[in-house]
Amino acid sequence: MSMLSRRDWGARPPKDAYTTLTHTKGVKIHYTGDHVDPALAREHARCVATVKAIQDHHMDGNGWIDIGYSLVVCPHRTIFQGRGAGHLPAANGAGLNSDHYAVLGLVGTSGLTQPPDDMLLGILDAIDYLREHGGAGNEVKGHRDGYSTDCPGEALYNWLKAGAPRPKTDESH
Ligand SMILES: [Zn+2]
Ligand SMILES: [Zn+2]
Repeated sequence: MSMLSRRDWGARPPKDAYTTLTHTKGVKIHYTGDHVDPALAREHARCVATVKAIQDHHMDGNGWIDIGYSLVVCPHRTIFQGRGAGHLPAANGAGLNSDHYAVLGLVGTSGLTQPPDDMLLGILDAIDYLREHGGAGNEVKGHRDGYSTDCPGEALYNWLKAGAPRPKTDESH
């Protein structure tokens, strides 16, 4: 499992204390709901810049104490620590955050819309991590489950509806 600490990716400190979560029903998966530059898939430095921009938007635009997601997964099977395990996320919608951790896959509505296999593997790593360290239960759902939104987009949602299968490694590569 490849994990970047908040220090590793240059996160700003949260503006206030987190609310503790000892366990959840599971995890909800999100996408950015925005354009994602396809160049991200070729250049990991762009992933870091994108996560920092999302944190800025959540803190300065939404007025949240921190990035809303528990964890963020980029196309390179790398997990960025957001609020992390054991802390209430802010991305699922009012009243829904204590039931599920929130994991963002860095795909969007245009540009990079199809999650590469390494992103799906990274999301599965993130779910394992939240089960092990945050008491996450067995549910793996999309943001749109129980909330009016297109999130996490068709590609990720179809994968979730299929039971979030582990991608088969292409042995010709
Ligand atoms: Zn969402
Ligand atoms: Zn990356």
